[in-house]
Amino acid sequence: MIDFRSDTVTRPSLKMRNAMSQAEVGDDVYGDDPTVNELEQWSAVRHGFDAALFCSSGTQANLLALMAHCERGDEYLCGQQAHNYKFEGGGAAVLGSIQPQPIENEKDGTICLKKLEQAIKPDDSHFARTKLVSIENTINGKVLPLKYLARLRTFVNKHQLSLHLDGARVYNAATALNVDITEIAQYFDTMSVCLSKGLGAPIGSLLLGSTEVIAKARRWRKVLGGGMRQAGILCAAAKIALTENVEQLKVDHENAQHLANQLNSISGFEVNLAQVTTNMVFVKVDESIDIHAIATKLKDQDIIISPSTYMRLVTHLDLSKADINNFISALKVALNK
Ligand SMILES: *Cc1c(COP(=O)(O)O)cnc(C)c1O
Repeated sequence: MIDFRSDTVTRPSLKMRNAMSQAEVGDDVYGDDPTVNELEQWSAVRHGFDAALFCSSGTQANLLALMAHCERGDEYLCGQQAHNYKFEGGGAAVLGSIQPQPIENEKDGTICLKKLEQAIKPDDSHFARTKLVSIENTINGKVLPLKYLARLRTFVNKHQLSLHLDGARVYNAATALNVDITEIAQYFDTMSVCLSKGLGAPIGSLLLGSTEVIAKARRWRKVLGGGMRQAGILCAAAKIALTENVEQLKVDHENAQHLANQLNSISGFEVNLAQVTTNMVFVKVDESIDIHAIATKLKDQDIIISPSTYMRLVTHLDLSKADINNFISALKVALNK
């Protein structure tokens, strides 16, 4: 299977499966699972936070962060394109009674500080209470500059707001910037990290933050049905993802470059190379091409894409350069009928 839909399709390695089968476990709701405890303690230190919480998914980790920072009737400022506004089922409003205040993202994925400032509500009973800014990095494959993060930290300090990072792919950002993960993490009160995307763990995300915020999040996780028992089985794989699969992201990014260049050599396909800095390639497909029919043909050869006229292709550890070349050859054949 050559699957370009997402880096979520990565499968756990044999080493992960072995570690899972050998993991020492206990009941994590009682705080008894040594493998969970070890992962949470190690992750907190590794990312420069006081505490960490292992969560079932990125959606859950983000929701817990919102619910830990905001009470009923509070609001968070976020990008119009933010995953935790647009793609998480309205969870903050549905389950947290928290109002999102989305603001149009700039072309580079940042949110303009002036626009953020204008969106902060006055202390007046007409308004929701603005408590939090939430941003995403990478956002649609784009890396936010460290300088922007520093300015944003100064901004939230000035306005006494908290700052959350949806860092589903924050390791891709650190890899692209060639910095340690803490160089990014240092600016945030909380950060979520997906372990089940490019890092290759089967299940799970981390939420990182202060002892107090993580204690609140742990309580909400139980309320939301996310208190897991022998979760050490999952954390054993997660530890390998964080210690052994980070290096691989560099290869994924090189493969995305290669894929982008190859696509640009085919007429009717256009990739803006300047925007290919991590593991995502967005390709404009000419209207004259029936990309849905092409996708069906590719599927017969076990090649999976999400067909669209503005199509996202994602590279990951289960996709090699040879797979990309096979895809390009098959695509050329399919285009010639
Ligand atoms: C995938 C993703 C999430 C959610 O992760 P799930 O584990 O799929 O719930 C959150 N934010 C961003 C930016 C993502 O890409």
